[in-house]
Amino acid sequence: MAKKVVILGAGYAGLVCALELNKLTTAQEAEIILVNKHEYHQLVTQLHEPAVGAKEEKDVTISINSILGAKKIKFVKDVVVSIDKTAKEVTLESGKLSYDYLVIALGSETEYFGIPGLKEYSYTLKSVNQANRIREHIEQCFQTYNQDKKDSKLTFVVGGAGFTGIELVGELADMLPQLAQKYNVPKEKVKLLNVEAAPMILPGFDEGLVAHAKQSLEGRGVKFIIGTPVVQVEPGIVHLKTGDTIPTDTMIWTGGVRGIPIVAESGFETEPRGRAKVDEYMRALGEEDVWIIGDSCFVLSPNGRPYPPTAQISTQMGENAAVNIYASMKHVKKEAFAPVLLGAVASLGRKNAIGSLGKKMKATGWLAYRVKDASKYRYLAKIGALLKSK
Ligand code: NAD
Repeated sequence: MAKKVVILGAGYAGLVCALELNKLTTAQEAEIILVNKHEYHQLVTQLHEPAVGAKEEKDVTISINSILGAKKIKFVKDVVVSIDKTAKEVTLESGKLSYDYLVIALGSETEYFGIPGLKEYSYTLKSVNQANRIREHIEQCFQTYNQDKKDSKLTFVVGGAGFTGIELVGELADMLPQLAQKYNVPKEKVKLLNVEAAPMILPGFDEGLVAHAKQSLEGRGVKFIIGTPVVQVEPGIVHLKTGDTIPTDTMIWTGGVRGIPIVAESGFETEPRGRAKVDEYMRALGEEDVWIIGDSCFVLSPNGRPYPPTAQISTQMGENAAVNIYASMKHVKKEAFAPVLLGAVASLGRKNAIGSLGKKMKATGWLAYRVKDASKYRYLAKIGALLKSK
């Protein structure tokens, strides 16, 4: 009888896992069920574009049913409530699902570090819905500025200068002047601030590329406040550790992520930031039939640092989990997770980017921008969605 494989989450890790397992197995060997709370897959690496109106929602979402087509993967649109690993059963909002093999690929959530008011009074950028909210809010700030001339409406603060923060700042730096023109608002009144706790933006990234990013963004009016943590947020005010305050109607928080709570709540072993510990085959520690992949898990790389929660790593975890689930079914040797790292590229707006490629190559400008684009198209080709998305 076919083994029932339930995959929770159709992000980069879960979707690729489902597609790879579909390739490896016949319908007699595996019944594959993919659960996701939305009917679309999100290109999370591109969310900074719809957040400022540079692209539309349809450019960063792809219908899951259109990706699956006639494949033997059953899609269930539902929300995961809890997992009972002893009963081998998942509770969804509208029912229960039993499994022989389970893959948890439910992603991450925003880390607020317990900073007072941050969760309540800031925007985040982890989904297309959140990107839409940011875009609508910014547009409204410009639309209404001339009614009351409140300067806080034209002060935009991004908290955190990791990859997410910098890509968003780059996009805002290009789009805010256009909005000022559209709504007849004085350009010189618009302020774009990026607050970072570490002594430098993009902590840990190549120094030369960081210098390029900083110069490019400052040249477009971005003001960096570095070495300065955000310590509190109130409606209309961001408080910094220095005691300074920034009056603003727009605080966007990109200060980091943590694992989703369902994993720890379901009794899987996690590290302090809520990510599951897994073995070399991506199985939850001590479990024979549960895989935890993508942002929901924690894996140390050979240099002793955890692999970052990126699309590049997540897709390779999805492939590895599929291979190892198949190996489990067939009682053959499993493959240890050993990703091939192609480097990292961050866009700096519509025309610029920085990239560290392979071990030694670095790229800036239009070339790096094209590399980022190329990695998106390579991914779309992989999931068979090239013709279904722009
Ligand atoms: P991150 O953890 O990489 O960066 C968060 C930043 O916020 C850090 O620089 C941190 O010092 C800062 N911060 C934390 N607390 C703060 C405080 N109180 N005040 C001010 N600053 C504070 O998070 P991210 O940027 O969301 O990225 C998450 C993961 O996704 C990373 O691994 C990243 O590399 C990856 N990512 C990659 C890309 C890409 O490859 N293009 C794009 C986006 C994200």
